[in-house]
Amino acid sequence: MLELKPTCEHCNKALPPNSLEARVCTYECTFCAACVDSILGNNICPNCGGGFVPRPIRPAINWKDDNYLGMDPASTRVKHRPVDLEAYAKLVAAIGSLPAEKR
Ligand SMILES: [Zn+2]
Ligand SMILES: [Zn+2]
Repeated sequence: MLELKPTCEHCNKALPPNSLEARVCTYECTFCAACVDSILGNNICPNCGGGFVPRPIRPAINWKDDNYLGMDPASTRVKHRPVDLEAYAKLVAAIGSLPAEKR
């Protein structure tokens, strides 16, 4: 199940489960849209090198079969690890040197 992390890993902005600003990679590295659009502007995750997508909303209401926040609450485990911009620039350069289908 997707871990709904409580904050942006870079700037520590709160990203509650109903936030439309949360972005995640396939490993659930979680950043806010402002950080992805600015410092992570190549849509490359600094932790794994993959891309980001908007994090889906987990319903707050029990619409069906207990699949909702009441049963599966958001994580409270803060992971605040600001991006090392120098290392990130190197990663982006390395990834950018490969054609998209080989990344
Ligand atoms: Zn952020
Ligand atoms: Zn990642």
